[in-house]
Amino acid sequence: MREIGHFVGGKLVSGTSGRSGNVHNPATGEISAKVALASADEMRKAVAIAANAFPDWAATPPLTRARVMFKFKELIEKHRDELARIITSEHGKIFEDAKGSVTRGLEVVEFACGIPHLLRGDFTENVGRGIDSWSVRQPLGVVAGITPFNFPAMVPMWMFPMAIACGNTFILKPSEKDPSTSMRLAELAKEAGLPDGVLNVVNGDKEAVDAILADPTIQAVSFVGSTAVGEYIYRTGCAHGKRVQALCGAKNHMIVMPDADMDQAVDALMGAAYGSAGERCMAISVAVTVGKAGDALMKKLEPKVRGLKVGPGLDPESEMGPLVTKEHYEKVRGYVDIGVKEGAKLTVDGRGLKLQGYEKGYFLGGCLFDEVKPSMRIYKEEIFGPVLAVVRSDSFDAALQLVNDHEYGNGAAIFTRDGDAARTFTQGVKAGMVGVNVPIPVPMAFHSFGGWKRSLFGDRNAYGPEAVGFYTKLKTTTARWPTGIRAGAEFVMPTMR
Ligand code: NAD
Repeated sequence: MREIGHFVGGKLVSGTSGRSGNVHNPATGEISAKVALASADEMRKAVAIAANAFPDWAATPPLTRARVMFKFKELIEKHRDELARIITSEHGKIFEDAKGSVTRGLEVVEFACGIPHLLRGDFTENVGRGIDSWSVRQPLGVVAGITPFNFPAMVPMWMFPMAIACGNTFILKPSEKDPSTSMRLAELAKEAGLPDGVLNVVNGDKEAVDAILADPTIQAVSFVGSTAVGEYIYRTGCAHGKRVQALCGAKNHMIVMPDADMDQAVDALMGAAYGSAGERCMAISVAVTVGKAGDALMKKLEPKVRGLKVGPGLDPESEMGPLVTKEHYEKVRGYVDIGVKEGAKLTVDGRGLKLQGYEKGYFLGGCLFDEVKPSMRIYKEEIFGPVLAVVRSDSFDAALQLVNDHEYGNGAAIFTRDGDAARTFTQGVKAGMVGVNVPIPVPMAFHSFGGWKRSLFGDRNAYGPEAVGFYTKLKTTTARWPTGIRAGAEFVMPTMR
């Protein structure tokens, strides 16, 4: 059985805690590897190695750090297919989608290549007579990232390229469900010239996370995952005096207006609701139809959901792969049962799906509910699977109110030809990422990513310019040289003269 240890101080090391978890191939249900689950002591040792690497890396010119990023970018491009295959084998998503997610992570590396410009300071001559002032952004020290299962390449790449380019050293604690991509990324970063100890991958579960949160050396924590865990990480990390950004769960709505291009709206929903088996924080899980849009949409949507090609992620014919684990499959399936009990109309039922040769895989067919009510659990809770809820609304105002009343506010979209409705929507919607005739409006690397309400705890979004602020602290120096004007002792607050 393949064993996955940790990547610390530039080398692969075995776990010593005696604890491990199973990694599965979701298409077959087979155990493909055992992943080490770090103890608090192993985490402390890794943090000490990262702390040791910090002074030299922080003193490395940003241009040199950028050159490592350029090389890293080339290596990711060269190994894109290999990385995607690793993702598919542990996560289950289809190969082309996995490749796309590597590219979205790569875009953050490309942004990090511009770090000399991004870290350029501000200088003001003569803030007083003979006195100059300048501001610089300096790295924090050792920072950590805790990442979810659903994007094993992209989400770690939202974090460590920016943190490292800013001059920090990094501890990555990936999801124990699909850890191999992070391990490979760390090897590629080393091959790109990253000094040992700058990027460390420590595999583990709650014990490793709690060790990160309590470690006084770690200055900042970036988290992406579910809301319950994110809120815990935010509160605990802040209580330990750390900077924390926690990007969490979602229930993204798409409003479909009667004047929308229905074919465009249906295609958008198919990709956004069922792509990656709905295991995306930017998946659309609720379609709110306004007036006559309801019947028009359902007429076109239902046959498409029925026709969804579900199969193993490495089969080029597959449009949707399996769910990540058996437990998650059962949870999602359980929500479909709940929806039926709650009285929603299950117009497409994917629960009976069986694939020949893959009977032990975690495959659930696409599920489509109509006439879902806001009081139902399938409306309120994040399902994180291929289950789309359609809610019928009488008016645009009522539809917008629904979006705004939901506890999550990651993304929201509207499909319409009406500029007035679109403008009212973009201005008034309480969500961090908004689409107009775009179903999954994941911002490009230079725009930063983050939700509102219980989809994000903290005040900084991920990647892009926001990440430069998160991973650095501002220092402002005010200087007067002895040859300047001498005023003698001053006992009042200095003001400009
Ligand atoms: P999760 O919260 O179960 O796990 C995320 C990380 O936290 C993992 O590394 C895991 O090991 C760790 N963890 C799990 N339980 C813990 C505990 N009790 N204490 C401490 N650490 C713990 O999330 P997941 O199932 O891996 O990922 C799916 C979730 O992530 C969904 O809710 C999805 O919406 C969310 N997500 C959000 C975004 C975003 O940007 N907002 C992006 C991707 C995924």
